[in-house]
Amino acid sequence: MSNNYHINTRCLQSGYNPANGEPRVLPIYQSTTFVYDSADTMGKLFDLEVAGDFYTRLSNPTSGAVERKIAELEGGVGALLTSAGQAASLISVLNICRSGGHVVSSASIYGGTYNLFHKTMREMGIDFTFVDPQASEEEIGAAFRDNTRLVFAETLANPTMVVLDIEKFARVAHKNDVPLIIDNTFPTPVNCRPFEFGADIVIHSTTKYMDGHATAVGGVIVDSGKFDWNNGKYPELTEPDDSYHGIVYTKQFGPAAYIVKARTHLMRDIGAVISPNNAFLLNLGLETLFLRMERHCSNAQAVAEYLEAHPQVEWINYPGLKSNAGYELAQKYMPNGTCGVISFGVKGGREPSMKFMEALKLAKIVIHVADARTCVLHPASTTHRQLNDQQLADAGISPDLLRLSIGIEHIDDIIADLDQAFATVK
Ligand SMILES: *Cc1c(COP(=O)(O)O)cnc(C)c1O
Repeated sequence: MSNNYHINTRCLQSGYNPANGEPRVLPIYQSTTFVYDSADTMGKLFDLEVAGDFYTRLSNPTSGAVERKIAELEGGVGALLTSAGQAASLISVLNICRSGGHVVSSASIYGGTYNLFHKTMREMGIDFTFVDPQASEEEIGAAFRDNTRLVFAETLANPTMVVLDIEKFARVAHKNDVPLIIDNTFPTPVNCRPFEFGADIVIHSTTKYMDGHATAVGGVIVDSGKFDWNNGKYPELTEPDDSYHGIVYTKQFGPAAYIVKARTHLMRDIGAVISPNNAFLLNLGLETLFLRMERHCSNAQAVAEYLEAHPQVEWINYPGLKSNAGYELAQKYMPNGTCGVISFGVKGGREPSMKFMEALKLAKIVIHVADARTCVLHPASTTHRQLNDQQLADAGISPDLLRLSIGIEHIDDIIADLDQAFATVK
């Protein structure tokens, strides 16, 4: 698509460009397999000599169109959709880090990613060092080893809302000749494009704002195409792959080596593929992403200001507030707004916070965030209920913390709901 189009135009029109007489709307190619007229053509597809869809585990026209759209939105050379955000995290790391390797990760990351790294991937023989995202460049630099293969962090951490200094993380990663992988789920490319600040790979849980309607679990990996893999640390990309007759990804696919390998090697072997139907639903969500993010942000800003001024609020964490520790970084990296997620505590601690949550009517209690409908969660009694108060504190989650995910309803109705809930805990 033309480079001159604005990002909101791309949200609608990128990725699928119908020819004369073709459907206006991206069709769902609900087919596992595709027809070819000769074994020779099939062989060339299998050997990656020619491009084309032949089996939906590897690629599919519906998913392919959505991948092209997301790659454009982030400004990358290619993308790979996955069955869930968790699969995107797994594949993004495994693609360049084998057993015996080491990863430097921000400690402020989504709990599911932390479990994947700390338990499952450690059991696979990959080691992790978790660093405070607010640590100095020197302190983060001290976590590197000879076998470090990447740095991982979240633009806006879920649920602590810590704003990442992307350029600081990119500098430390590049000083150590490894790429920076960023989970950009919360701001979405509408509010932040990490490649513009030096990130090399971006991943998302598309389950959140990208889909936005809580209909389809999914994930995506996007490759900036900018990292130079030829530094001796990535033989999986720069040396022959014997499962593809010895092709060398960096030679055959140039700047797209990483994302091609993620698909042809890991998606082939792991099969954590998105369904064409879910890719279609994701695409519908993406069409209104720009509009929705604007409203999520303006609504959340209004709610944050309302909560900050409310006498029954003990504390509030929203990077759009001037009083917030992440305000300056948010202004730099997300000048148009962060996202709709706010965390706060009701005065009096855990009990009043829970009573307040249960009194909400419009905002529903769900294990989800980044939904078009306002929702709320008390992590200490749900997602983090196995942790004691000390462990909760270590995870940055106080016993009174409520995570409010502001939707795109009318702001007056959202605030009226909060008002009536506060009245019940007086
Ligand atoms: C939800 C989430 C994930 C995991 O995504 P799933 O689609 O639920 O597998 C990863 N990162 C962040 C920041 C998330 O919020």
